Amino acid sequence: MKNQKSNPDIVSLSIRKLFIECNLIHFNQSLPNSLVSAEWSNKLKINVSTTYQGNTGTYIIRLNKPMLISYTLNEVKELLLHEMIHVHLFLTKRQSYSDYTNGGHGPVLVFTLS
Ligand SMILES: [Zn+2]
Repeated sequence: MKNQKSNPDIVSLSIRKLFIECNLIHFNQSLPNSLVSAEWSNKLKINVSTTYQGNTGTYIIRLNKPMLISYTLNEVKELLLHEMIHVHLFLTKRQSYSDYTNGGHGPVLVFTLS
């Protein structure tokens, strides 16, 4: 178990700002800022992070703030990047939402991560 001392960098971290930064640095801004929302959640029960498809073609990335509060900035960034890869795969149709609901970590995702 990680110690639960909260990390002030995480407490004050804006996931939206981190998303915009990662989108610029790692995705060449290919994830439309208007279609993807990225935010903290206090309501996720099990997962540290998740991505789901909203209606009207939007994507919602949620990171579990209570679980991640003691993590380092790099660890949170890696989780966000993982979720952003899911969105990237949805948008490029290399992975459908139905693949994702079956776990979503098939060979394409694993390849993209490496
Ligand atoms: Zn995943």
